[in-house]
Amino acid sequence: MAQAARPVLGLGLFRGPVPIVLRSLGLRGTCRSRSNRQAQPLQSHPPRRPVRAPSTEPDLNSFALRTHTCGELCTAHIGQEVRLCGWVQYQRQGIFIVLRDFDGLTQIVIPQEKSAAHLKKILCELPLESVIAVTGTVIPRPPGQANLEMPTGKIEVQMQNAEILNRCRKLPFEIKELVKKSEALRMQFRYLDLRSSQMQYSLRLRSQMVMKMREYLCNLHGFVDVETPTLFKKTPGGAKEFVVPSMEPGKFYCLPQSPQQFKQLLMIGGLDRYFQVARCYRDEGSKPDRQPEFTQIDIEMSFIDQARIRKLIEGLIEYSWPEEKGDIDTPFPSMTYADAMDSYGVDKPDTRFGMKIVDVSEMFRNTEISFLRNALSCPRGAIRMISVADGVDLTFVTLQPDGTWKSAISKFLTDMEKSQLCHITNIQKGDVLILAAGDWTKANAALGKLRLECADILESRGVTLRDPGIFNFLWIIDFPLFLPKEDNPEEFESAHHPFTAPHPDDIHLIYTEPNKVRSQHYDLVLNGNEIGGGSIRIHNMELQKYVLETILKEDSGLLSHLLEALDSGAPPHGGIALGLDRLLALIVGASSIRDVIAFPKSFRGRDLMSKAPDYVSPEELNPYHIQVNWPTEMHEDNDKS
Ligand code: ASP
Repeated sequence: MAQAARPVLGLGLFRGPVPIVLRSLGLRGTCRSRSNRQAQPLQSHPPRRPVRAPSTEPDLNSFALRTHTCGELCTAHIGQEVRLCGWVQYQRQGIFIVLRDFDGLTQIVIPQEKSAAHLKKILCELPLESVIAVTGTVIPRPPGQANLEMPTGKIEVQMQNAEILNRCRKLPFEIKELVKKSEALRMQFRYLDLRSSQMQYSLRLRSQMVMKMREYLCNLHGFVDVETPTLFKKTPGGAKEFVVPSMEPGKFYCLPQSPQQFKQLLMIGGLDRYFQVARCYRDEGSKPDRQPEFTQIDIEMSFIDQARIRKLIEGLIEYSWPEEKGDIDTPFPSMTYADAMDSYGVDKPDTRFGMKIVDVSEMFRNTEISFLRNALSCPRGAIRMISVADGVDLTFVTLQPDGTWKSAISKFLTDMEKSQLCHITNIQKGDVLILAAGDWTKANAALGKLRLECADILESRGVTLRDPGIFNFLWIIDFPLFLPKEDNPEEFESAHHPFTAPHPDDIHLIYTEPNKVRSQHYDLVLNGNEIGGGSIRIHNMELQKYVLETILKEDSGLLSHLLEALDSGAPPHGGIALGLDRLLALIVGASSIRDVIAFPKSFRGRDLMSKAPDYVSPEELNPYHIQVNWPTEMHEDNDKS
């Protein structure tokens, strides 16, 4: 067939995430030669800012039965004999095969000679996603047929031979970005979903970031990577734990919510600086974007204070930050818990946009508007407000308790009140003010939620408020040590966990007014998401016992091992854990942490591929002395994601 008649394959097909895979390796658009693939030696001291891991180029073909990946050939390879292995992404008109592997796509030209008719027939009949090895020669694409969107788009491989390594059966979905598939289907056939360039990118980026974190912590700063047990026991406070049967009648292990106690024990054991890529387990049922098992970058240090831990984490994130995501500024700003609640109504504010909550109580002290007056007369009553720029399209209608509908309160506002409002909120034409009157905490929480909902609505109408390319890190500090329990506000629970130390300035209040004690707890927030949290710990046994028994009303006997350890020469210590899944999801712009986990559970905590959790027969339960108490009604509900 004449060259000019050949269809140009792949235009448009190669756009999108495939080049990103290369970018993540820092290799985009370059013709990669093996000579520069040596890992660069690590610096023994952190270099001056910006502190970023040196980029290394691994040898992607070492040990493999191929000479090159499907993403690396370029004009410099023209004339070379190569062997590529991969999956058949496209096959067209008996002329081309597009071969895919983790690194990209290469166009293969099927030989058209009569002597190769048998090979051609086999290849043409081969189902997509079959696995083949191709040997051939790298040749330039004919004039005018280069695909500049594609890293390998200037060349193709003239096939000499092909080996069918495995035929593929008919698949439930095609491995193409444009083919939409439900999340349930993606999870059921996760091994297929993992072939997508987006999943490949996310998992590779995850691996690279963890690698750089290890380098930073262990090689540059002397942290010790210690694996702590995952069979542990039930401990007080915190999230619900997964229970694991043991063969001792009535005795159970629990999967740890985090290695918290172990990392403190490691400090008492003199390890000085600990780090672990730690798997944590929380049986929290169906919560959006939570996983029953998830990963933390878990850190603990002896002889440390808050400021130094914050600095360590800023350095860690800067060092491991993906180059293609631009620079991040350190130090990260900080905000007190009180200020966050006051201005944003939440303890994890998204500071990429304004719409801060302001207090307008004073200007309504003498108002004629009765519901405002009533709100102000209550203890802790307040009138709070947000101003939504260009929010004129939002419609707020109130259904009164008497059943009548009411719109704005504007006709009841005096001129004086209007001009004060303009002054306080700097309202412009087309803006909307949303006002909440009532208990300070409730009014603020409501406005905090409305602020985010308004942002959602405005963004659905094309206004960009939260640029996904901007990464606003923020420390939240000075949390209260205790909060009233949600189900019983008379009792206290820890705002972080029971091991968190009180703020040194408030320590005396712990015995008199524990509700007023601030803690040495800090959270790291990124674009409105909590991505980490930690604290300086209580290292004094008496204080720890007092907090557990007297304030939290917990059975301190369950923690006798920790109390004894604290009494055995525990150094002052503190730490933090970063939520790796959430951090990754924000970096890659994934809407769910499931997209950065290789084998996530569904919304209901199930593995839709293997169908875990699964039944165990009564005989198998016997050694555990367990019998199932079957509910009278059982629903086999469909898990959609
Ligand atoms: N263990 C804590 C958590 O999982 C983090 C810490 O305090 O270091 O939230």
